[in-house]
Amino acid sequence: MNDNNNSVVACPVCSNAGTFYYVTKNNYPFNRCDKCDFVFLNPMPDQTTLNEQYIDHDTETEPAYNKSASRLRRAFMKLPRFFPYAFGKDSLDFGCGGGFVAHALSFIAKNSTGIDISENAVAYAKQRFKRATYQCMDFIQLLENENKYDFVHSSEVIEHVSDINLYMRVLAHLVKKDGYVYITTPDLGHPKVPEDVTKWDVFWPPIHVQHFTKKTANILFERYGFSIRKFYKNKKPGLIFLAQKL
Ligand SMILES: [Zn+2]
Repeated sequence: MNDNNNSVVACPVCSNAGTFYYVTKNNYPFNRCDKCDFVFLNPMPDQTTLNEQYIDHDTETEPAYNKSASRLRRAFMKLPRFFPYAFGKDSLDFGCGGGFVAHALSFIAKNSTGIDISENAVAYAKQRFKRATYQCMDFIQLLENENKYDFVHSSEVIEHVSDINLYMRVLAHLVKKDGYVYITTPDLGHPKVPEDVTKWDVFWPPIHVQHFTKKTANILFERYGFSIRKFYKNKKPGLIFLAQKL
């Protein structure tokens, strides 16, 4: 039913002119690119629609960040990994949510900033964590802003954004030359992903609108002037990588 010409669209990540219908979940059809592995909703909802969905979901499942103790503990446990890239530097958590990682980074960075599109999240972060600076800004406002950072952390963000190329433009704009970005997202190429991908717990439209493998990440980040320096080992199906802005 979905193998008609309407489902054939160009890949937003690589130069492949034709991507084709892949699977449907929750009535949302996905396409897949056989050149870079990218899997994405087609049609892709716009960002305003996604934000509404996301905010609804967020308030349903995590009122007032009720897992805050474990979030905070996990944020501090990551500091040794961030230390070589963020110590004494200008650091940013891009998509900072309730501010846990920006708060942890404030203990090693020269300046720690958290930015999120959710006003509620930023209000929570500002009220709870005073060491870091928090701002509510969207992608367009960020492109107009001249602030740049040595280290940008952006965890579990890229699977949510409607326009992956706009996100990448903003990321490239935010990072200083030779600076680093630390990215996490579900790993579609991991051996633990079920053969029927719709049974994967994070295959979750319209909250997660797209999925990546190492190959997708390499192609996408290279296009925006980054070089991926390392993929961290992960027993769970999550991509974790560090890229440097050239
Ligand atoms: Zn592609």
